[in-house]
Amino acid sequence: MGIIEKLRLDNKKAFVTGGARGIGYNIAIALAEAGADVAIVDMDEKTARESAEKIAASTGRKTIAIRADVTSKAEVDGMIDGVLKAFGRIDAAFCNAGICMNIPAEEMTLEDWNKVIAINLTGVFLTAQAAGKVMIRQGGGSIINTASMSAHIVNVPQPQCSYNASKAGVIQLTKSLAVEWALKQVRVNCISPGYIGTDLILNSELLKPLIEQWNAMSPVKRMGRPEELQAIAVYLAGDSSAFTTGSDFVIDGAFTCI
Ligand code: NDP
Repeated sequence: MGIIEKLRLDNKKAFVTGGARGIGYNIAIALAEAGADVAIVDMDEKTARESAEKIAASTGRKTIAIRADVTSKAEVDGMIDGVLKAFGRIDAAFCNAGICMNIPAEEMTLEDWNKVIAINLTGVFLTAQAAGKVMIRQGGGSIINTASMSAHIVNVPQPQCSYNASKAGVIQLTKSLAVEWALKQVRVNCISPGYIGTDLILNSELLKPLIEQWNAMSPVKRMGRPEELQAIAVYLAGDSSAFTTGSDFVIDGAFTCI
């Protein structure tokens, strides 16, 4: 079998949190195009359903939408039950849901801090834990967390200490789970994208005007597109990455190199 065939995800079952739009949606499309059945998990049930329908229409794969808030253990557990009911197993779990709050550290309330940590770090833990339990039981699987280049650098000029700290936590959580579950055949990796043109940036009154400044700082002089994360997602989800675990893939157009 050639490498392109080996990369295919036929008969695999996957879910993507924060899959209704942006990076998660593009990952979900890629998984389905590669042959997987995919559950779109999101807070925004309507968009999740529309996205699942679009992916099913263009790929012919089975897709479902499940509403869940990743900060709630009960909702995450319910989501996992829903995926198992629909698909019978979970081969690839993308813990991707995340938010950013741009507040100067000296003005940040405990509530704001906790909100970012709850979604970006605790949400990834709850989702990975619930998926990991299923994967251990079934004899293996692949978990992919979305960290960020903000785990490696301090973005400027916008203040976002809670986001940066949460994403650094995602990388160390990823490595910890990879080691704990290495002999249980559950692989855990993360991706650390640079600036990607999604609603997280384009819908933010504060961030959108900064794009020109960021592009000037970037060696490649542009932001990334969400579809430029699709190939790594397919690779990490499937069996051709069997020796890849505990790794963080920085995909940022060399932003963090300088
Ligand atoms: P978007 O804001 O476009 O999409 C995020 C999705 O996550 C939304 O559909 C949102 O739903 C959902 N979501 C938010 N909170 C929760 C929750 N508690 N439970 C379930 N779903 C939730 O963001 P991106 O696609 O840009 O970001 C995806 C991931 O990539 C995030 O973890 C982000 O930090 C990371 N990332 C993004 C970068 C970028 O430049 N865009 C760069 C590096 C990393 P709703 O609409 O209801 O809020």
